[in-house]
Amino acid sequence: MSFYAAPVARLIEEFEKLPGIGHKTAQRLAFHVLNLPLEKAQSLAAAIVDAKSKTKYCSICSNLTDSDPCGICSSTSRDHSSICVVEDPKDVVAMERTREFKGLYHVLHGSISPMEGIGPEDIKIKELLARVKEGNIREVILATNPNIEGEATAMYISKLLKPLGIKTTRIAHGIPVGGDLEYADEVTLAKALEGRREI
Ligand SMILES: [Zn+2]
Repeated sequence: MSFYAAPVARLIEEFEKLPGIGHKTAQRLAFHVLNLPLEKAQSLAAAIVDAKSKTKYCSICSNLTDSDPCGICSSTSRDHSSICVVEDPKDVVAMERTREFKGLYHVLHGSISPMEGIGPEDIKIKELLARVKEGNIREVILATNPNIEGEATAMYISKLLKPLGIKTTRIAHGIPVGGDLEYADEVTLAKALEGRREI
């Protein structure tokens, strides 16, 4: 039995489903929305639907984009001979913030995790191999997260790439082990990229 009117209870419930939002915060957000003028609330709802319906995954790198191929893949000023492999679209944003990397990306959408039942076929490894086999790739930089799953994923990919004669490097651990790429500051991430080593 909720103390709130049904539509309010529903809004609180939806907010609670968001990552890192507990019941108290969900309540606060719901009341914030209820206090907004109607057009502001509509604009918030429209932004959510718009972002969801107008973005897709790039058919080359699997990054989130509103145009296919994405701006990075279709750029003529970037180095199309190197690919930086990351787990998540958020990691592309983190890498771009460093302004150090001028190549292309490949977003895996996860990492290999036997504990969670995620195998190599569940993430975009096949697609990476296909890109590499198409030729013109000089270097693949493995920038998966420096945790157990990220390391396992990097090792797995490097074993697949070795026989193809592709230079395969792993970013250095300026990033704390167990950490998340997306929370690393630009300097740490730039250093990690600079200190990458062949694996
Ligand atoms: Zn792309």
